[in-house]
Amino acid sequence: MLDIQSLRDLEQKYGSSFYLLNVTKLRENYQKIFQAFHSRYENFIIGYSYKTNYLPYLCKELSKMGAFAEVVSRLEYDLAIKIGEDPKRIIFNGPLKTREDVHLALKNESLINIDSFYEIDFIREYAADNPRQLIKVGMRLNFDITHNGESPHQDGYEVGRFGICVENGNFHKAIHELKAIDNVEVIGLHGHFSTSKREVESYQKITRKLCSLAKEYLRSTIEYIDVGGGIYGELPESFNLNTPTFDHYAEAICGIMDEEFPTQDSKPILILEPGISMVANVFTFVSKVIEVKTVRDVYFVLVDGSVHNIKPTMHKNNLPMKMIRQKESAKERGAFHIVGYTCMEKDYLAYEIMGELPDPGDYIIFENVGAYTIVFNPPFIKERPGILAVHDHEVIEVRKQETIKQFFNEEIYRF
Ligand SMILES: *Cc1c(COP(=O)(O)O)cnc(C)c1O
Repeated sequence: MLDIQSLRDLEQKYGSSFYLLNVTKLRENYQKIFQAFHSRYENFIIGYSYKTNYLPYLCKELSKMGAFAEVVSRLEYDLAIKIGEDPKRIIFNGPLKTREDVHLALKNESLINIDSFYEIDFIREYAADNPRQLIKVGMRLNFDITHNGESPHQDGYEVGRFGICVENGNFHKAIHELKAIDNVEVIGLHGHFSTSKREVESYQKITRKLCSLAKEYLRSTIEYIDVGGGIYGELPESFNLNTPTFDHYAEAICGIMDEEFPTQDSKPILILEPGISMVANVFTFVSKVIEVKTVRDVYFVLVDGSVHNIKPTMHKNNLPMKMIRQKESAKERGAFHIVGYTCMEKDYLAYEIMGELPDPGDYIIFENVGAYTIVFNPPFIKERPGILAVHDHEVIEVRKQETIKQFFNEEIYRF
């Protein structure tokens, strides 16, 4: 459907830059991840990581498919409620939760994974006020997953900062504090580690450790093992990376779950919290070419978009992209940069592309922009573009183009 005429039609209605959400592909991703794990371990749940992309329409679509909502703030928690999620299907993670947040989650019987000791105080208060409720909580843990002597953490950090540390005795201490509260049970262990290589071996370590701690400390109460997110999704072929498949991860994680909990009635629920692997490849960003100019002998292709729209972290790798041209006649070939509308020098959507130069009025489609983009996209200099969901040739506007009224919301700004 993405020929020049249909893009012009979309531009007429929605402006000269917008995101497209491929709903069919989203459903495929969910099914592929779910099948890989569920076929090997029946008691399996996907908790979709909201922060990766909390477009309400997307969250609702995944909820309809069966995903739980994995949230890391009250804002995300309230969004899950707003789209109609059953609070018992919300997993509340994250380092910062207020007393009210914790009490609400406990009242609603959401799954809650505590990250620090201060949350235990909130649980203790709630338990004292609600002596007849059996209160179930989980804990996010922090332990060493060093592999071949190398720290696997993103950006090379020696230790991760999240969760309650096992090695220094904090986990032991926290368990005892929680067990000392009459009507509290610890039912889940959670380990999400953002590793740079997303290796299967890291998940083996995580799963093994969570299971053995559950057996040692929570034999009679364990209900779930949550191995977090961070797995690779299907990458564009142009990346040329030989990354693990969903089956590779599932084989390793489910195999260990089965070994650790061999009898059918002992098997806890296994939770996976995919973010990037679920949504990265289901969004594209369409942007119109406005001008092709030369500065000395360098070509700059100016589009109605910004690096903020497609890679807010401003990494220098070019995303896979497609050009939709008005005419297929022979054009000038050369190296060019694709640059954006902001007034920052570094606003490059792509560096040193080799090939036929586009013309003004052509469109460039940047692919793989679903994860950590729309949520990170500051309204900077220009209103945010709209988002269109496409399914079976049907186009639904799921976020309108922002207007000045919403950008400078009169309820919060003083003029
Ligand atoms: C960010 C996050 C995820 C998702 O991570 P991806 O790398 O996007 O898969 C899952 N769980 C928690 C607790 C997170 O913070």
